[in-house]
Amino acid sequence: MTSRISRLVVAFVATAGATLGVTVANPAPASAAMTICYNTSQAGSFAGVANQAATIWNNATSNLTLSANCGSNLRIYSITGGGSYAVRTSLGNGRVYIDTQQAQQYSPLRIMSHEIGHILGLPDNYNGNCSLLMSGGSAGTSCTNPYPSSAEATRVTNLFADTRSDTERGSAADSVIFQDSWPATTALAPIG
Ligand SMILES: [Zn+2]
Repeated sequence: MTSRISRLVVAFVATAGATLGVTVANPAPASAAMTICYNTSQAGSFAGVANQAATIWNNATSNLTLSANCGSNLRIYSITGGGSYAVRTSLGNGRVYIDTQQAQQYSPLRIMSHEIGHILGLPDNYNGNCSLLMSGGSAGTSCTNPYPSSAEATRVTNLFADTRSDTERGSAADSVIFQDSWPATTALAPIG
């Protein structure tokens, strides 16, 4: 009888563990994962890049699921000229604009992941460090890193887990327009 109960307990624990998956390793509160629906209907040729960036953020965070075309928390647009930028209306909501001309100079995937990072609460950090996603164009056109650093990813996870102070979370949830992350490069073939 005792061994039978043990087997049942083992089976239950195994099932529960499989259901919880990787969250076992994360000390964040057991709140439900938040789904951010992004819409690529106006993303043009960047729709695939948006999907790649969503996968990057899903893998980097423990409580977020960016999901395509289930709603419009985040709309992604393709534009021509003027620079790529993000408009965050609140934490996890807003619009991302990818400049086709800029995407010929800088990595489109790095630009996309960076701009989505703003929607997820991150500010710019123009320190030229390519290992950071939020250093944006300051790391130069040769930097193609599309991945948030562990610190950047942890900050996003904490923002959505609501473990940050009200002050910090408040600023991350503010409505902000993030522009000029990707400086124009000098002309390749100057006239004269
Ligand atoms: Zn930026």
